[in-house]
Amino acid sequence: MDQIVYLDNAATTKIDPEVLYAMMPYLREEYGNASASYALGRRAREAVDKAREQVASLINASPEEIFFTSGATEANNWVTSKAHKCIMSEIEHPSILRAFDTPIGKKQKKDMVIPIWTLMNGTVDIGFLEDAANQIKKEKAYRPLITVMYANNEIGTIQPIKRISEIAWDLEIPFHTDATQAFGHIPIDVDVLDICYMSASAHKIYGPKGIGMLYCRDGYPPPSFMRGGHQERGFRAGTENVAGIVGFGKAAELSKERMDGEIPALCELRDYFITAVMDEIRDVRLNGDPIRRLPNNANLTFRGVDAETLLLLLDEAGICASAGSACTTGERKPSHVLKAIGLTDEQALSTARFTLGRETTYKHIDYTVDVLKKSVEYLREVGKNVNRE
Ligand code: PMP
Repeated sequence: MDQIVYLDNAATTKIDPEVLYAMMPYLREEYGNASASYALGRRAREAVDKAREQVASLINASPEEIFFTSGATEANNWVTSKAHKCIMSEIEHPSILRAFDTPIGKKQKKDMVIPIWTLMNGTVDIGFLEDAANQIKKEKAYRPLITVMYANNEIGTIQPIKRISEIAWDLEIPFHTDATQAFGHIPIDVDVLDICYMSASAHKIYGPKGIGMLYCRDGYPPPSFMRGGHQERGFRAGTENVAGIVGFGKAAELSKERMDGEIPALCELRDYFITAVMDEIRDVRLNGDPIRRLPNNANLTFRGVDAETLLLLLDEAGICASAGSACTTGERKPSHVLKAIGLTDEQALSTARFTLGRETTYKHIDYTVDVLKKSVEYLREVGKNVNRE
């Protein structure tokens, strides 16, 4: 294969040429500050307003409900910043899990966070969540929040978001969902789902890095966070990243246009990949829910194979994939998500994630299966010999 085979689209995506084209003027001649009153500034403001509409339209929100941020990490830190009692799933992204880490240390976190178990398919234990929510309601907890990610970044499992938001509304506890992996990939209607707060990021949908958003339902303003100028209606100060915002808007528009065609095509390609791996290689297990999963995600455990070494062999063959999630790469710790769904340390360390994208082809998949088969067989053989010695 003379080009790279990029199967790490959950880590980030390649910027779409149309997105780049839309951004370019705002990196060159249209450099005005969106707060300035002369024409150059007004044009920047119009571009930001248009992008806000494009982003809102993808999730059936109104533009005033969208607050631009530097990404989903910031949105997650923002929405949790004033919570005092937070119910969260134990498989959240570190930008939620670690939002309550304070210099005061773990004790405070223990008082503030109620982690909810996940079932083996990766969905939260709804009964447990409901009990915890009733409990904090009874205790009249100060500034409570429920936060459960829309879809998991490692195993791709999609959560029962409607059911969780019903529980939250019934008990009048605000509900936030980190939709970074789902936004622009599967349909999300904030009204149908009654979502109160939601985070998303542009670089997961073929937009630029360093730009994202926090959706806040009308009547539920975000907590005060970044103080300074009046940008983002005074809730998030700082000169707008106009080019980034424009790119985010364009990426959202393209996702909306293409989603209907892309979802079935990706599901077919993903299932083709999973089936081929299972047929060609013995002792492989698919993690996460086989049906309620993101169209692009295949998370696979190769028994007896060290995933980091496997990834090196894939890299040598030009294939990009990841072990655990990219955010924890470098730490040789088994993934907290895989542990939460019941994998042993050994199984978790033998797991690789493949996330397909707009540019993935059947040829890429056939090539990857071929390299995987040879690499897994080789590593198992080497492992056998080492064990014999
Ligand atoms: N949440 C989830 C579920 C993610 O996958 C990521 C990105 N790995 C983030 C939050 C952080 O997003 P960003 O890179 O925009 O800060």
